[in-house]
Amino acid sequence: PFEVLVVGGGPAGASAAIYTARKGFSTGIAAERFGGQVQDTMGIENFISVPYTEGPKLAAALETHVGEYEIDVMNLQRAEKLVPASELGGYHEVVFANGASLKARSLVLTTGARWRNLGVPGEAEYKNKGVAYCPHCDGPLFKGKRVAVIGGGNSGVEAAIDLAGIVGHVTLIEFDDKLRADQVLVSKLESMANVQILTSAQTLEVTGDGEKVNGLVYKDRTSGEEHKVELEGVFVQIGLVPNTEWLKDSGIALSPRGEIVVDDKAATSLPGIFAAGDATTVPYKQIIIAMGQGATAALSAFDYLIRNEAP
Ligand code: FAD
Repeated sequence: PFEVLVVGGGPAGASAAIYTARKGFSTGIAAERFGGQVQDTMGIENFISVPYTEGPKLAAALETHVGEYEIDVMNLQRAEKLVPASELGGYHEVVFANGASLKARSLVLTTGARWRNLGVPGEAEYKNKGVAYCPHCDGPLFKGKRVAVIGGGNSGVEAAIDLAGIVGHVTLIEFDDKLRADQVLVSKLESMANVQILTSAQTLEVTGDGEKVNGLVYKDRTSGEEHKVELEGVFVQIGLVPNTEWLKDSGIALSPRGEIVVDDKAATSLPGIFAAGDATTVPYKQIIIAMGQGATAALSAFDYLIRNEAP
């Protein structure tokens, strides 16, 4: 058994594991895919103090840094079930897909999230070649260019407002017959000169020249007609799904969107169990935020372990 088991090996998990190992706690880190979403990212320009890096490079750096400590790294391990300790200070158990299970007195859950995909032709092919999911990350790459934002909820409308200040033109595409974002955001978007809003529009395909995106095809759901929009970028904003399905029966509090509810010390609703990063209710999903919250969760685990002896 470990004193601290971190579940998830993205920026949040790596940060948490380094912090608890530095406190002298026996620390394990179990992850389905070490590096997390960072592995799927190309250019990263907002990891402060590193003006430019690339996802696989940052993932390798996380692994190197974790490797500097006595941390037991268990890659390719998918957690399927959490059994919380039955008494304060006791051992929690995490059961993995291969049937193995690990015990620890404190857990840090950092299983991250995934962007919901459109599932249309061209989307996967042109990912990072014009198809993007994070306006804070990739917006500046499209300076002066034409982009579409797919999705008219709060995140889509916020993204469109954000992008309209950077890019040349934004087409917002919503499947429904009206935008679902807060009225104040919709009014703001409608007031912007370089934005076109299309409702009742179903995205059918992202097109490209083999190298990068050059347009998209949508169907007007009222007339049934298909139209092509020429552009250089497509931001998909139809939801970020937390990887917390495995926690559903554990008794841990999840938000209506499935995020692990945490307080400002990264404590979950269960004693001794902390959580950090995109899997949680923390506002704004970014690498630097996930790392910061990972450190918070680890220091909270330290506080918990020094105050609660094993029963
Ligand atoms: P994740 O990175 O999602 O890591 C989750 C970890 O948990 C992974 O190791 C995963 O394998 C593991 N896991 C999941 N489920 C289980 C399970 N059941 N059992 C065991 N392990 C599990 N942010 C920026 O700040 N700048 C950028 O430029 C940027 N660009 C991005 C580009 C793309 C294409 C994407 C997808 C995201 C981008 N982001 C960017 C967001 C950033 O990657 C995330 O905010 C950050 O990775 C969150 O870290 P995390 O550790 O919370 O989760």
